Amino acid sequence: MTQRRPLVAANWKMHKLAAEAVAFVGELRRGLEVVDVQHRVDVAVCPSAPLLPRFADALAGFRRVALGGQDLHPDDDGAHTGDTSGRQLADCGCRLVLCGHSERRAEHGETDALVARKVEAARRAGLAPLLCLGETLLEREAGGTEEVLGRQLDAALGALDLRGAEAPAATLIAYEPVWAIGTGRTATPEQAQQAHAFLRHRLESAAGPRAAAAARLLYGGSVKPENCAELLDQPEVDGFLVGGASLDPEAFLGIIARCAR
Ligand code: PEP
Repeated sequence: MTQRRPLVAANWKMHKLAAEAVAFVGELRRGLEVVDVQHRVDVAVCPSAPLLPRFADALAGFRRVALGGQDLHPDDDGAHTGDTSGRQLADCGCRLVLCGHSERRAEHGETDALVARKVEAARRAGLAPLLCLGETLLEREAGGTEEVLGRQLDAALGALDLRGAEAPAATLIAYEPVWAIGTGRTATPEQAQQAHAFLRHRLESAAGPRAAAAARLLYGGSVKPENCAELLDQPEVDGFLVGGASLDPEAFLGIIARCAR
């Protein structure tokens, strides 16, 4: 079991319309009152950008759920048609933003260098960057998992500014093996623990034991209420980034409730 306060974050990807988001917030608020998770687990939801204002209105200052973006442009503003800046996300009430999700890396050609610039942009806007990284199946089968994770983490280390972080618990990293995302094939608890231990050790070498111990390392990849408990039993797993199961309030609340135990 982690010594850090768990975080459960929803990644809604390009799902839901505004009315569905508002209904979801109502169910989430009701559910969180019943689960009474106030001081034991943090909760975040990252809807797609057009849903953010309605989602924020529906939350109406309900601070137990943090609003997050799914992506941001590395610049603070400018002529970038179709993009969203960190400042705009913050203006919508976001407190965090995903950086380098594997779907962005694969579908939009995001490089490690670009992801690092996004992490910096997030911090400039006062958002907590949630850095996503993970290996493909080919890379795992070729024995390259740690090489890939090390490369992806090292590229963002300067931007994360671990030594300078005023609140080290704001360091958020999600290990998301690409082969486990949306496939129903979850990493085993041992695989997750091994990858997270590698990442924490790397953080320790770069920024020292205090910063490494405070960073929250989430696991993502086909997490459900049925498989999250054994993953969270691993000492280096500090919560989850949840895609498919986060679309259903009951399943999402089920994961939150298990993290609050
Ligand atoms: C994700 O896309 O971040 C994710 C973890 O998706 P899923 O839970 O559906 O595998």
